[in-house]
Amino acid sequence: QAHLDRITAVDGDVHAFLHVSDHALEVAADIDRRRAAGEALGELAGVPLAIKDVLVTTDMPSTSGSKILEGFLSPYDATVVARSRAAGLVPLGKTNMDEFAMGSSTEHSAYGPTHNPWDLDRIPGGSGGGSAAAVAAFEAPLALGSDTGGSIRQPAHVTGTVGMKPTYGGVSRFGAIALASSLDQVGPVSRTVLDSALLHDVIGGHDPHDATSLTDSWPSFAAAAREGAAGAGLAGLKIGVIRELPDSGFQAGVSASFRAALALLEAQGAEIVEVSAPHFEYGVAAYYLILPAEASSNLAKFDSVRFGLRVDVPGGTVEDVMAATRDAGFGEEVKRRIILGTYALSAGYYDAYYGSAQKVRTLIQRDFDAAFAQVDVIATPSAPTTAFKLGEKIDDPLQMYLNDVTTIPVNLAGVPGISIPSGLAEEDGLPVGIQFIAPARQDARLYRVGAAAE
Ligand code: GLN
Repeated sequence: QAHLDRITAVDGDVHAFLHVSDHALEVAADIDRRRAAGEALGELAGVPLAIKDVLVTTDMPSTSGSKILEGFLSPYDATVVARSRAAGLVPLGKTNMDEFAMGSSTEHSAYGPTHNPWDLDRIPGGSGGGSAAAVAAFEAPLALGSDTGGSIRQPAHVTGTVGMKPTYGGVSRFGAIALASSLDQVGPVSRTVLDSALLHDVIGGHDPHDATSLTDSWPSFAAAAREGAAGAGLAGLKIGVIRELPDSGFQAGVSASFRAALALLEAQGAEIVEVSAPHFEYGVAAYYLILPAEASSNLAKFDSVRFGLRVDVPGGTVEDVMAATRDAGFGEEVKRRIILGTYALSAGYYDAYYGSAQKVRTLIQRDFDAAFAQVDVIATPSAPTTAFKLGEKIDDPLQMYLNDVTTIPVNLAGVPGISIPSGLAEEDGLPVGIQFIAPARQDARLYRVGAAAE
């Protein structure tokens, strides 16, 4: 009730939610009954959960921020939603996002932007700005996001929250409306590292419904976070910083906060080691070929026949109906990426664009392998700037894309990354995050280090 009241009080200004559940209190009451009856419930039982609208739910519409899916009700729950319900979390509602998770500001949502609770004139990050803003504004204690190139970590950075992108395959993508299938991962957003770890424990692990789901058995992430919070994790830890990461493009206050955080980590016994990752800076270029290619293929299913919107064309052919529906249903950024992706995949261009981008992806993976032979984790600023003003970059896609310069390589390599708050930037008093990156499958290390550094 407290969270519903808070949503009523502030969401008119913040607009973190696209839909608020009308039966959250009944679900919560049921958890209370089960607890009273002596049922052993998990640590998160009864905790409200905000769910990014990219994740399908049977009891609330799922639009992925698009008009083409307006009012769509899924016949099944995403695995992460089903597991959250089974653990007794209480879904509060569905959160706003850039359309089909394409963007860094939520300004590409078909339902209007979300506002950053720190300053309502500023962006909350994207694509998962709704989830991060809901947590930052105390509308929800915990949220689910998805991260294809930074959509959990960059919103966490600009809202002073924690966001974790798990190892690729560590969390099921079943029921996460696909953007780029080789990059998408679902993960938690929270106010503390332990909270993210607790949610990750609930949603993670093998899922036979996802063909890329890892069959590993994972350690308890909450236990790792508790070890870190108790002081383990930093003494003797080798933290890599990337030599080739360009200084240009980083706001002075972001760089200063990063350096101050490194000095604090060093004072706690960590060792800062320079590592070389010469291909890191080509991540954005490779990503904007691979992502549109995969997205153009994934979005082909929105054809006016199977899901959502249909625009009738009297006397028209099936193709006319498809074209009219996609024209009306998709926003500008989605169309831009479908066109880019279709072009990059077309005969005669495939090797020059998509093929080259895949080679760069391999080189980035090798850079990470080489770096992780020397260090335990790599640290970067989570994003180059603090929250910018709504409208500031909306007409300049390239500027928008460059927001993800430090997060994208992590998705390309499939490794885990976490953003935790590192303070406020001196010049504008807005939150800044530090990102820690670990080798694949070492998600627990990030929770230990993150909780120790917090
Ligand atoms: N901002 C990036 C993009 O626009 C990342 C999006 C995401 O992680 N879903 O593609």
